[in-house]
Amino acid sequence: MSTENKETEEKKSLNFIESIIEEDIKNKKNNGEVYTRFPPEPNGYLHIGHAKSICLNFGLAQSYNGKTNLRFDDTNPEKEEVEYVDSIKEDVNWLGFQWKDEPKFTSDYFDQLYEWAVKLINTGFAYVDDQSPEEISKQKGTPTQPGIESPHRNRSVEENLDLFTRMKNGEFKNGERILRAKIDMASPNMHMRDPIIYRILHKEHHRTGNKWCIYPMYDFAHGQSDYIESITHSVCTLEFEVHRPLYDWILNHLYTEGTIRPTQIEFARLNLSYTIMSKRKLLELVQDELVTGWDDPRMPTISGLRRRGFTAASIRKFAETIGVAKRDNVIDVAVLEHSLRDDLNKTAARVMAVLNPLKLVITNYPEDKEEFLSIENNPEDETMGTREMPFSREIYIERDDFMEDAPKKFFRLAPDKEVRLKAAYIIKCEEVIKDSEGNITELRCTYDPDTKSGSGTEASKRKVKGTLHWVSAKYAIDAEVRVYDRLFTDEAPDGHKDKDYKDFINPDSLKVLKNCKVEPSLKDVEPESKFQFQRLGYFCVDRKDSKAGNLVFNRTVPLKDSWSKKNK
Ligand code: ATP
Ligand code: MG
Repeated sequence: MSTENKETEEKKSLNFIESIIEEDIKNKKNNGEVYTRFPPEPNGYLHIGHAKSICLNFGLAQSYNGKTNLRFDDTNPEKEEVEYVDSIKEDVNWLGFQWKDEPKFTSDYFDQLYEWAVKLINTGFAYVDDQSPEEISKQKGTPTQPGIESPHRNRSVEENLDLFTRMKNGEFKNGERILRAKIDMASPNMHMRDPIIYRILHKEHHRTGNKWCIYPMYDFAHGQSDYIESITHSVCTLEFEVHRPLYDWILNHLYTEGTIRPTQIEFARLNLSYTIMSKRKLLELVQDELVTGWDDPRMPTISGLRRRGFTAASIRKFAETIGVAKRDNVIDVAVLEHSLRDDLNKTAARVMAVLNPLKLVITNYPEDKEEFLSIENNPEDETMGTREMPFSREIYIERDDFMEDAPKKFFRLAPDKEVRLKAAYIIKCEEVIKDSEGNITELRCTYDPDTKSGSGTEASKRKVKGTLHWVSAKYAIDAEVRVYDRLFTDEAPDGHKDKDYKDFINPDSLKVLKNCKVEPSLKDVEPESKFQFQRLGYFCVDRKDSKAGNLVFNRTVPLKDSWSKKNK
């Protein structure tokens, strides 16, 4: 491809935010700088929607040689906790991003924000209202009907300053006074009808302690925090589009010529099928103990996905694949799972594990014999090498892989039928052993020594219909396997008027299997290592509960998307 063609190719694939940024760079707006921020409120753990925003904000800075701040939007001391701050830092880092310098906190700017509020009062653009929030809200009007002006709207600057100082000094109770911007009670944009910018809240703050009993509202903190940090492109989700005139109005009143001025740009938030993304509801799942915590592997939180076995690379790839849109839409959760399978297929070693073991004795295999069979670790990647798997007279196979009265199309093991044991021999089932209640306890088989995989003999090339995974009974290691599935059975669990999202919790979202047998190479696996259990799916070592001698694996995803079939 010629350089010219390549350039047009690249230009074509710019998303709308990149186009805005390139235009700004071309016009030397803000000296051509690109400075973004990710501004979570520390009132919950980050989820996959936040991951999209993180990849976008940090990704834009990476593409244009810029910087990104991590800023905690901590203006509401009622719901915020240090635990959330710590988890957010960990999650952003795990996703592979590093913010510039120390994390920032909106609460670091409380003094400056207070000064700016005073400035608005001094210039006649803010006033103290004595009415209750309920009264104020009644006077707001409707989008087609102008609001009613507050009786306190035309207070003198002196009186406003005095009242605001007393609000700050703690002379009033919660809700007794409020500071409002003086804009336009008839504006077609409801957010411009004298919005509340400061409220009284006698509540200790996780960083400023009891220094403040008045706190700025989101709209009176966000744009100014961007401005203080010299953010150039303030990327946020669509619901803030209607707040943009207020964002600009406030900056117009505070802006100093010659400084960097941020622009707010909105994109569509990520919605995923079969997934709940509201922090309030996720908190409810945790509090009601419907999951084991924020990092339960069924949660759409970054820490949950991580514990489930998602790789950071697959999440970044997913964010890139779905791109940014200007209109709300719903992405099929299968797209996320596809991105994960794609990554794990290339990177995860193949191993053998039997989740529901059935003992199988190869009667013509000498009792004192054992051999080590060489198996490749990943057919997709030769550099991952091979390993030795012990093979002996007694092995375990999957209980499901045997059927006594097998239908014609059952290509696994059945009485008098043959199968190949993966990377080993062809065996034939000769006898089924049962206990007194008729449960199958053991299979007796014979093997054909000439059929060893890869031995090159004619017999080894013989085709049989089924190939089973197995582990040597003598060498296998015990493990617990937690088989996770989607948490909700409905595509849009919170999209039903007559039903609660909790009505759609999948009763089979977790099955704990305690008696699994895994191959001996897994003895010393590190937490979070990821594997393909052959024929079963992708699994990872649980980062919290797995210990040497007490292995715990989580099923990340099955090999194929079994849901698309179920629901079509
Ligand atoms: P809430 O308003 O309930 O606290 P939130 O999801 O808006 O929840 P924030 O902590 O304010 O939480 O979000 C931080 C950043 O992540 C914001 O810029 C927000 O726009 C973005 N974000 C949140 N949810 C999504 C989503 N589903 N898709 C994309 N970006 C999101
Ligand atoms: Mg928010």
